[in-house]
Formats: sequence, C-alpha cells, structure tokens
Amino acid sequence: MAWTGYELAKNSDGKIINGDPDTTVTGFKVDSRYVEEGDLFVCLPGEKTDGHKFINDALNNGASGCLVSKEIDIDKRYNDPLIIEVEDTLLSLQNIAKKHRQKFGVSVIGITGSVGKTTTKDMVNEVLSTKYRVLKTEGNLNSEIGLPLMLLKLQKEHQVAVLEMGMNDKGEISRLCEIARPNVAVITNVAESHIEKLGSLDNIASAKSELLEGLLPGGTAVLNHDDWRVKNMNKKAPGEVLFYGLTGGDLIASNIGITDQETTAEVKYQGEVYKLQLPLLGKHNVSNSLAAIAVGKIFGLTINAAIKGLEDFSITSMRTQVQHHKGLTIINDAYNANVQSTIAALEILENLSAKRKIAILGDMYELGEYTVKAHMEIGDEVIQREIDCLITVGKLTEETYNKAKDLKPQKTQIYHVKDNNQAVDLLEEIISSGDAILVKGSRGMAMEKIVYALQEI
Ligand code: ATP
Ligand code: MG
Repeated sequence: MAWTGYELAKNSDGKIINGDPDTTVTGFKVDSRYVEEGDLFVCLPGEKTDGHKFINDALNNGASGCLVSKEIDIDKRYNDPLIIEVEDTLLSLQNIAKKHRQKFGVSVIGITGSVGKTTTKDMVNEVLSTKYRVLKTEGNLNSEIGLPLMLLKLQKEHQVAVLEMGMNDKGEISRLCEIARPNVAVITNVAESHIEKLGSLDNIASAKSELLEGLLPGGTAVLNHDDWRVKNMNKKAPGEVLFYGLTGGDLIASNIGITDQETTAEVKYQGEVYKLQLPLLGKHNVSNSLAAIAVGKIFGLTINAAIKGLEDFSITSMRTQVQHHKGLTIINDAYNANVQSTIAALEILENLSAKRKIAILGDMYELGEYTVKAHMEIGDEVIQREIDCLITVGKLTEETYNKAKDLKPQKTQIYHVKDNNQAVDLLEEIISSGDAILVKGSRGMAMEKIVYALQEI
C-alpha cells in the first residue's frame, strides 16, 4: 500500500524540503544497500556510521525519497527527489508504522520472552498460515527499528501479523506495543539475557510484562505456566489468559520422547489427549510449540489442525539445528547462548544415542554481575549430565572449565582452548564417526565457524 510524500510528512511531523508531495513511496529501508525502486530511505544516525552519508547510494538504487534530520548533500544527478525533514528519524519511522498498522483491521500477535522468541514466532506463523494469510517478522527484526520496518510491510491481503518483540531495557516493549497495538501477547520465559541493563530477573519480568499492559482492550495472553514469573503476570492481563506448560496449564505436554530425528509428546487440552510429533529436538521446543498451538486455538483452529501445522516445521538456522556429516551428528546452536538455552541444548545432547557426546561451549556475553556464576553453573550441568567430552572456548568459559575440573568427573574429558581455530584443531584430533557434537556460544563468538570446519572434514 503506497504512501504519498504529503501523507508521510503529515504523519511524521515533517516538512517536505524538496520534491513533489505527491511522490509515492511503496517501501521503507534503513540500509541503502537494500533500497529498491520506490522506497523511502530513512536516515538513522548510528553508533558507527550515519545513514545521512548514504543518501546518494539510496537514490542510486531507486529510492523515491529520503527521511532526514540533518543537512544533506545530494548529488546533482538525482532529479528532485522527495526529501522530508524531521526532528528524529527513528521516532518518525515508528509513528509512520503506527499509522500504517491502524489502517488495517488485522490481528497482531506480539511475542516476547528471554529465549525462544524467534522459534515461537516461526511456529505461530506455521500454525496460523494453515488458515490465514500471515505477515511474520523476518529473521530477528524485533527491535525499535526492526518492528516498525516489519509493520510497514503490512498489506491488505494480510489477516494476521506475528511480531517478535525484543528489548534491552524497561519501556521498550511498551513503545513497541504503542506502535503495533497487539491483540494477543505470548510470553515465553524470563532469564538472564540482557540482565546487564536491567539488573535482576524481577526487573526483566516487569519489562516483559509491558506486553500485557500494551494489549488492546480484551486482548488475550498466552503465558508459560512453567516459569513462575511469567505465570504470575496473569494479573496484568486485560482479558482471557491461556497457560501452557510441561508442568501445568490449560495446554499441557507430557511423555516427551526425544530421538536424534524428532521430539514427540502428548498434548492435553480440556481432557482430550493429542499426539505431537516435531521434526526438531528438545523439550524447550515442545514448550514453544505449545505456545503456538495455544495461539492457533485462539484463532479458531482445532488442536489437531494446529499440531498438523507444525509437522514440517524447520528450525531457523543455528538454533539447535541438527546436521549429519560423515557419521557425525552436529547440533549447531551457535546463534546465541545463555544459561537457559545452554541447559536446553545439553539436554538434547544428553538424550542422543551417540557413541560419544561432545559439548563445545563458548563464552556467554551480556550477563553482567552474573557472568562468573553463570559460567560455573554450566560446568556443573555438563558434569551432572555425564557428557563424555567438554571443550570450553574463549575467556569467560575458563570458569566453566575450572568448575568442571574441580568436580573431578570420572566420565568427562575436559579441555580449554582460546578460540575457534584451536577448537577445530583439537576436534580434528579427537573426533570419530558416531560422535555427537554440540556447538554453542554467544553470537559474538561466531561458533558456527567450528560447524563449517567440521563439515569440511
Ligand atoms: P534473541 O533474543 O536473540 O532474538 P530469541 O528469544 O529469538 O533470541 P531463539 O532464537 O528462538 O530465541 O532461540 C535462541 C536460543 O535459545 C537457541 O539456542 C534455542 O535453541 C534456545 N531456545 C529456544 N527456545 C527456548 C526455550 N523455550 N527455552 C530455552 N531455550 C530455548
Ligand atoms: Mg530472536
């Protein structure tokens, strides 16, 4: 759905300082390299660089116009492009997105939580797409920039929008809600991700619960019953609440079975039992799928139809992605790591029927004061689960290594290396066909490089 320059200026408190107010804009980009014909290039000031520097690149790629907050220097080659000047380009982008959302009668589902947002968002999309035309957050575009960009992709044809909502600080989810006006809220869990800014799990819980306060009147909440902080958020819900969990709730999964190909479970809802078969691994993914089934239920699907929607689900890359190569089973979980998701991944490794189970674990960032404790906790988990071999990689994981060593395990061999290259060298020496290898660490550790190297062996 196109915008005119005039409408854009009006909704962003902006001034058209160049070009024709009737210029039409059909898309929005913040990165000049991805600008296509008809886009409005939104110049955001960044920490490292400034979008205003790339105006000519954007125009060269066919931008209809630019949203700016500074003086700019346009190459004479470009024939009178639309330029709208505003105070704050990010705020204006958000306000335009907010207006765009209000033009449509779609239902918006907001998904937040410390871990599992992307996976749950993709599962909700999979379930709802069996019946509706769905717009979903692409990749991980869950921020104050990503969410407005996603919302601006709403078209007449969409019936539902499934949006991931991330945050680093209090107030951020509230702002995302003002823009997206969600009808349904899903909250997966509360863990230490982003604890650096928020300081405590209670503060994180409170920041997540802004999603419930930001629901439209009568909106429905889908809450994880297994996480007591999330469970207790029901008090803030404005309407109906559907709880899901492995230990309790309206929608409960039990009898979970995990092989190296799939995860099965029994799902109970209102006294009936349904069989769930997921082509991916881990109890945590059963939990994520319960959230998706609950959303399906809210949107009028039967439990069976929702479960069927998940039959062919494929996990976003690098999230407990299972790969097989030359007799090795590789669990590529290199996307990110915190305590919760590392325990979830170790649980998968523990349950595999491999000759030897090897965990390669890298540093976990953004844990603030909790850093040492968290890394030690993982050392403990590895030994308790009798993993055959632990290789810690980086600096912070020295704590994991030392903790594991202190426990003097009978079964687990323990190594520490400084970086991914050293980890690959070590692996080349010790692995053999039949081994299962988990690779996990924070994004900054880029541990997928280990997976790529293993695939070359
Ligand atoms: P981000 O904050 O980076 O956007 P996210 O919340 O979107 O993360 P995912 O990308 O879905 O989370 O998953 C991140 C990691 O957490 C993966 O390693 C995944 O296997 C693990 N994970 C996913 N869901 C859960 C869950 N419910 N409990 C614990 N770990 C989970
Ligand atoms: Mg995500």
